[in-house]
Amino acid sequence: LFRKGAALEALAWVDTVVLDKTGTLTLGQPEMTNFNAIDCDATEILRLVAAAESKSEHPIAEAIVRAARERGMEIPPVRVFKAEPGFGIEADVDGRRVQVGAGRYMERLGIDLKDVEARAGELAAKAKTPLYAAVDGQLAAVIAVTDPLKDGSPEAVGALHALGLEVAMLTGDNRGTAESIARQAGIDRVMAEVLPGQKADEVKRLQAGGKKVAFVGDGINDAPALAQADVGIAIGTGTDIAIEAADVVLMSGDLRGIVNAAGLSKRVLRAIWSNFFWAYAYNVVLIPVAAGVLYPLWGLLLNPMLAAGAMSASSVFVVTNSLRLRGFRPPIEGRHRVIQETIENIEQAA
Ligand code: ADP
Ligand code: MG
Repeated sequence: LFRKGAALEALAWVDTVVLDKTGTLTLGQPEMTNFNAIDCDATEILRLVAAAESKSEHPIAEAIVRAARERGMEIPPVRVFKAEPGFGIEADVDGRRVQVGAGRYMERLGIDLKDVEARAGELAAKAKTPLYAAVDGQLAAVIAVTDPLKDGSPEAVGALHALGLEVAMLTGDNRGTAESIARQAGIDRVMAEVLPGQKADEVKRLQAGGKKVAFVGDGINDAPALAQADVGIAIGTGTDIAIEAADVVLMSGDLRGIVNAAGLSKRVLRAIWSNFFWAYAYNVVLIPVAAGVLYPLWGLLLNPMLAAGAMSASSVFVVTNSLRLRGFRPPIEGRHRVIQETIENIEQAA
């Protein structure tokens, strides 16, 4: 959905596509895969961590709370809660101070991670996000969540590369994790550990380097970057704020839509240019003829009736040329193809 006509034109000039990771390239519904308690009772620590996370809206928090509920845990109430965007959270549970978040959050709290560094590295290499929990200022657990790529992501990245576009990933996640996800998706340029407030600055930095940037995102924290980019593309299944800040919305959430939007945009621009060319060329030639430039030489004049006809013909030509866009076939027929394949599978099975 093109929310602004200008975006249809601007997208054709884009040379760099920056993709948000969580919820854009990935499903945005992480699962907790590991919970390693350090020198303490895992059940008790998970109970405290889940209680703290129950106050957070971050998808990671939902994954942890869900995992605790699946294990049949009662989640105790929480009174004091504080979220540090891009870092983690802090809460008081049962009179104990619980802090959960990224490595850089623990560093900021002055908690030493040397003993668990290797473990976290292993998790990140498997495209899992390592998180840490501290209770009363002591490291208590290493947690991992994983958020798999959407089905169409690698194909979309490949198709964007084939269009000659540079593709980069922007995320607040851990560098190691971000790099392994990027490798799975086929992206070579990664901007990781970017704080929520700095996403727009990263886009601005690329623009200052002369790039025409399309930013693709879904979250509240993506809105400033969506507004900053030359073309902001929001995921239709994302937050309202992101959609509001964007110029283009991918209604189905499938990234292959970017390739189709860029293809359509190039076609539209070509139609605009050819319309300009023909409309001008036509008038540049025929107006002087109508004015009589050929009369002194060959006695040629344009009959006013023919001139009126020619005038209309030029408009009809421009409209017809534009209407050819109705025949536009998207380079990747994502959903249609999936439906087609499903039908074929059913037929084969029958
Ligand atoms: P992104 O949306 O790209 O994952 P965020 O800025 O939302 O980026 O989060 C960055 C990192 O901060 C997360 O990967 C995680 O390590 C940490 N974090 C943020 N919120 C929480 C939370 N509620 N619980 C645990 N960790 C969190
Ligand atoms: Mg996101």
